[in-house]
Amino acid sequence: EKLSSAEAIALEDKYGAHNYHPLPVVLNRGEGVYVWDVEGKKYYDFLSAYSAVNQGHCHPKIVGAMMQQAQTLTLTSRAFYNDKLGVYEEFVTKYFGFDKVLPMNTGAEAVETALKICRKWAYEKKGFHENEAQIIVCENNFHGRTTTIISFSNDENARKNFGPYTAGFIKIAYDDIDALEKAISSSPNIAGFLVEPIQGEAGVYVPSEGYLAKAKALCEKHNVLFIADEVQTGVARTGKLLAVHHENVQPDVLILGKALSGGVYPVSAVLANNAIMNVIKPGQHGSTFGGNPVAAAVAIAALEVVKDEKLAENAERLGEIFRYELDKYISMSNICSLVRGKGLLNAIVINDTEESETAWNICMRLAENGLLAKPTHGNIIRFAPPLVMNEEQLMDCISIITKTLQEFE
Ligand code: PMP
Repeated sequence: EKLSSAEAIALEDKYGAHNYHPLPVVLNRGEGVYVWDVEGKKYYDFLSAYSAVNQGHCHPKIVGAMMQQAQTLTLTSRAFYNDKLGVYEEFVTKYFGFDKVLPMNTGAEAVETALKICRKWAYEKKGFHENEAQIIVCENNFHGRTTTIISFSNDENARKNFGPYTAGFIKIAYDDIDALEKAISSSPNIAGFLVEPIQGEAGVYVPSEGYLAKAKALCEKHNVLFIADEVQTGVARTGKLLAVHHENVQPDVLILGKALSGGVYPVSAVLANNAIMNVIKPGQHGSTFGGNPVAAAVAIAALEVVKDEKLAENAERLGEIFRYELDKYISMSNICSLVRGKGLLNAIVINDTEESETAWNICMRLAENGLLAKPTHGNIIRFAPPLVMNEEQLMDCISIITKTLQEFE
């Protein structure tokens, strides 16, 4: 029996615990860059499930790999070996240039895993005394929703009344190399530096050129792990396979999620070289579903699609066009002051207070006009379509966006 939008929303509101504030659109189908609501209206998806659906909705190759594996063997847990995991592990480590991978399911889980690896490495390889290890993080970070991760969040809404919090984090300004140098040199107990190469949830903040390379050099100098959270920026989103590649940086620890599966299935991973990863011994960390054969098959297919369809190159090229066209519009606009981003991870800044509803109202109107996007918060609207978009579709979307903004001038 077919539900109307109103019925589906009423059900979720009544029986679901809402931790988000969704746009009132009920989707029931997706293909490539498009999604459809239950009334049959077609939209361009400019959120891509927070950059998970880089390969486009229901990519046939990824879905095919999942279906085939799901009919053969879905889950063994890590109590036994399975015939897909090792193949995936070889594939993914070579793909990103690391010795080893630790497979998990969600982004937050992978971040937690990276923090644990970093701490253990500091105790076992740097000889830190128990409970001393400190990890440097950045203001306005977003790394997930677990208790440890919210312990160093700036988002009061995500943090307040969820304490007590996990200790051991030092927060510094993002994109401030002096602050990093000061923090690293101020204490002998620094184990790692956790950073988003572009801050996505904060509003698509791209750090100054050279910041990541300098931060990596500082970490090397002080024997501190450079931990890149590429859950949102990774897998071709910013026009390179990884956002750190814009500055030729290879992190010590790499965190991936979201588009590692093309949004088809929850798959996340932590990658590192032996000298770091080997601190984790059997029984010290794990997850029932992590590294299951379906996840392995899906992730291989998702990463093959990225290379076969040259998604990084496409994101780089279309991103340039997007910012060029939006800049042209913004130079004459009263409502919008800035477009920023890299590849197809971009945002515009609306000229209104953070508390105003303007950005939200623009997104509501964008939806009416056939394009789905959401404010990251306040007055910033993120635009992150699937990377399988072509130029004609992009020009169509730019026209929807500028016409919609025009309605608010
Ligand atoms: N890290 C970053 C940089 C993210 O953007 C997100 C999700 N927005 C996460 C971690 C958390 O991922 P998940 O929602 O899969 O736990």
